Amino acid sequence: MDHQEIYFNQDLETMSQDEIISRQNEKLKEKVRYVVANNAYMRELYAKAGVDANDFRGIEDLDKLPILAKANFRETYPLGLCCVPKSEIREMHMSSGSTGTPVVMPYTVADLDQWAECMARCLRMSGAQPGDPMQIMPSFGLFNGGFGMYHGARKAGLFVIPTGSGNTERQIRLARDFNTRVFGAVISYTGRLIEVMEKMNVELPSLRIGIFGAESVTHAMMEKISARLGIEVYNIYGMTETGGVGTLGMDCQDHSGIHVWEDHYYLEVVDPVTKKLLPDGEVGELVVTSLTREALPVIRFKTGDLTRIVSREKCACGRTHVKIDHISGRTDDMLIIKGVNFFPAQVEQALLEIPGVHSEYQIIMEEKDGVNDIRVLVEAEEGVTGYTVEKRLKERLGFSPKGEVLPIGTLPRVDGKAVRVVRKKLD
Ligand code: ADP
Ligand code: ZN
Repeated sequence: MDHQEIYFNQDLETMSQDEIISRQNEKLKEKVRYVVANNAYMRELYAKAGVDANDFRGIEDLDKLPILAKANFRETYPLGLCCVPKSEIREMHMSSGSTGTPVVMPYTVADLDQWAECMARCLRMSGAQPGDPMQIMPSFGLFNGGFGMYHGARKAGLFVIPTGSGNTERQIRLARDFNTRVFGAVISYTGRLIEVMEKMNVELPSLRIGIFGAESVTHAMMEKISARLGIEVYNIYGMTETGGVGTLGMDCQDHSGIHVWEDHYYLEVVDPVTKKLLPDGEVGELVVTSLTREALPVIRFKTGDLTRIVSREKCACGRTHVKIDHISGRTDDMLIIKGVNFFPAQVEQALLEIPGVHSEYQIIMEEKDGVNDIRVLVEAEEGVTGYTVEKRLKERLGFSPKGEVLPIGTLPRVDGKAVRVVRKKLD
């Protein structure tokens, strides 16, 4: 086999943790001064919290800085958190609205390059090589998925096939005709791809790599997709507030956690309620600081995403950047039924253990007179019964939602992020 490039930026991806921490400290000090100097809202926020940017000493003082939330974006919509004049902005993206808050992210030329660099590192980490055809299937638009993969694929020298979302039959025909080697997609879209491939009776033997993200996914689902498509599946992570898909990172070929690009981002995992820093290994809410962004560097942004630090040791892949666990859910996704807390991912995990169950499911939360009731709708092959589903959910979740089995193809298919939880109010 030809020589394979496994790093996009070997020096930076493999530098020692000491070197990483020393850079992070420098950049943190610099960014705190920068936002205070260039943004009136941040200046006031820090003044109110008694923070003097000139005295700020880096990581050791981080907990003195107020935490930013989506509410700060809402209050300052559209560009009140931006640190550069509008004439310096070259592109913008906006969150897909899962939580209903408009989050606008402006990019300077340098920010677009930073995004492309982070994304290109992810692509190379998956084994994608210059010239490899990559089909980019998230939408191109305000959602950051399509353009983020595009900027990164360009930088990594791939052959870009920018199909965008939808038109699944055409996606499959193009993948066959151009021997697509890499698929980039919102993870739940893979269910649709597989269904349509089966209907068309097409296999894709050139396909090797799936770069999937944007939603919580269980290991069971990743394995299922990987086995069915015969490809290596990667979990890519990013969000509008950090600059989009791939900015935070992805898992490597060792699949032992998501490497986060620590020369660009500083991470804290905190208790979701008290916001106190948690020890490595404990699950909490991820708080992120952008160290290198120009137009809108977030400082201590609470993501709502739940994860834990898996390792800070050098990885089998040679990279030294911290590894975090797959995102198990969002703080605002947590469901409470009869005093039991759980996340949609736990339902997914339980469902996928049942033979014959497909990847499409929906959790219907019905509220009547202040009492929540829950039904789980799932597509499955003949022979799987509501009773089987209820029994498994009871074993795994500790209570028994009503299970309803539907024929394959009944639940709505969406082009973007899947709608797993539907809340209804009954009167
Ligand atoms: P929205 O908040 O409207 O969904 P974004 O498009 O910015 O807007 O989505 C970012 C969010 O998507 C993250 O905060 C996280 O909750 C989720 N997300 C993105 N990638 C992943 C991933 N690989 N695993 C789990 N969740 C993810
Ligand atoms: Zn690794």
